[in-house]
Amino acid sequence: IKTYQGKKVIVVGLAKSGFNAAKLLHQLGAVVTVSDQQPLDKNTEAQELTATGNFTVLTGKQTPDQLDAGFDLMVKNPGIPYDVPIVQAALEQKLPIITEIELASEINEAELIAVTGSNGKTTTTTMITKMLNQERTAGRSAYAGNIGIPASKVAETMTSDDTLVLETSSFMLLGVTAFHPHVAVLINIFSNHLDYHKTRENYVKAKMRITMNQTADDYFVVNFDSKELIGLSKQSKAKIVPFSREGVTHEGAYESDGNLYFKDELVMAAADIKVPGDHNVENALAAIAVAKIHGKSNEAIKHVLTTFGGVRHRTQYVLTSEGRQFYNDSKATDMEATEMALKGFKQPVVLLAGGLDRGYTFERLVPFFKAHVKGIVLFGETKDLLKDAAEQAGVPTIKMSENAETAVPTAYEMSAPGDVILLSPANASWDQYPNFEVRGDKFIQAVETLTGKKEEQ
Ligand code: ADP
Repeated sequence: IKTYQGKKVIVVGLAKSGFNAAKLLHQLGAVVTVSDQQPLDKNTEAQELTATGNFTVLTGKQTPDQLDAGFDLMVKNPGIPYDVPIVQAALEQKLPIITEIELASEINEAELIAVTGSNGKTTTTTMITKMLNQERTAGRSAYAGNIGIPASKVAETMTSDDTLVLETSSFMLLGVTAFHPHVAVLINIFSNHLDYHKTRENYVKAKMRITMNQTADDYFVVNFDSKELIGLSKQSKAKIVPFSREGVTHEGAYESDGNLYFKDELVMAAADIKVPGDHNVENALAAIAVAKIHGKSNEAIKHVLTTFGGVRHRTQYVLTSEGRQFYNDSKATDMEATEMALKGFKQPVVLLAGGLDRGYTFERLVPFFKAHVKGIVLFGETKDLLKDAAEQAGVPTIKMSENAETAVPTAYEMSAPGDVILLSPANASWDQYPNFEVRGDKFIQAVETLTGKKEEQ
């Protein structure tokens, strides 16, 4: 365990995780400076910390001279690129730069499991955490980090016997140097997020940092349905545990004839997984591999996968009323996610969609509308653009509404028993809501009001 006593640390870029890192470092005895563009005058906690001494707040433009006081370490918000002047200056001074997840992994000796991928991180991280807790080994508890609560805040409350299951984005991984998970999981690599990483090569490199410090005592769980990932896995020194939906991977988890296996032993039927869609079979296989590495029984695994209805706002099963199943996929802020959600249903879908206009058109969704959607209710800035796509697809009923809440009764009217009513907006929420969570919550409330039933957990 590293000690931070007396270390001079500058935390650059606060947000939730950065501020938590700063507080934690202060608690651990470090002399902390935080630098953020936004003034912190409304942050009473920051003011209280300043009053205790050993805590300095710098606001305004982040300039290299903020490093003049001399530091031992920089904790950088993962969203801040490496080419901004203050980070460049830190690199020139050879100041170690870490990010908050690395700090989280350094403050106790808890076992670390890290999950990355372009999609499926939250779902897989949650499945793994539930499986480990379903059948605890020697009092060990598993905690999920970075799902709503920053990693370092979760790590603070853990003992060295526990397990931290960390959702890690490529932004986060880009900043790590000594990050060393005992089990690393790479679910998939798609070409999104390229605006930040500039090239696919950089994006892939960032993701591969998850295994960079692993040794032969560790495990690297990798999706073997991708040739690219099979190739990349050769860079890892860890034991490779493959998972696959398309082929038999005797050394790992796979799907064959509708059943899920681990090392050729039957675990359960794929159809019994509660969260819908092939992509969730993939997530389940990754989680099974991790649970099996930890010696969990098929019963424990099966219990979790047959009862876990999905992470909030991510193709989350809400409730059933009069034969209609309601799903909240408010997290679907792009077309790919909506496409995934639609592909996940065999039943006819009444879709609620629309949101922030980023200048895209929606042709890409036409085949998926055609195959799955019997009715659509549109709202937000993109409703007319989506209407064009729905018309092209020949969706039988197309209606306009005000927002994700008013769309609920309209959708219900066009549904029949056996249908799915799905909020999967294919757009960001910021034209009408503060974030996708609020949009999803409002949708659920509207469903509860309409049906007189409560969301099922
Ligand atoms: P993340 O945390 O990586 O954003 P989530 O688990 O929150 O991923 O899922 C977000 C959305 O991504 C889901 O609603 C679904 O549309 C899609 N998705 C989830 N898992 C996968 C997967 N394994 N492959 C492709 N898409 C996926």
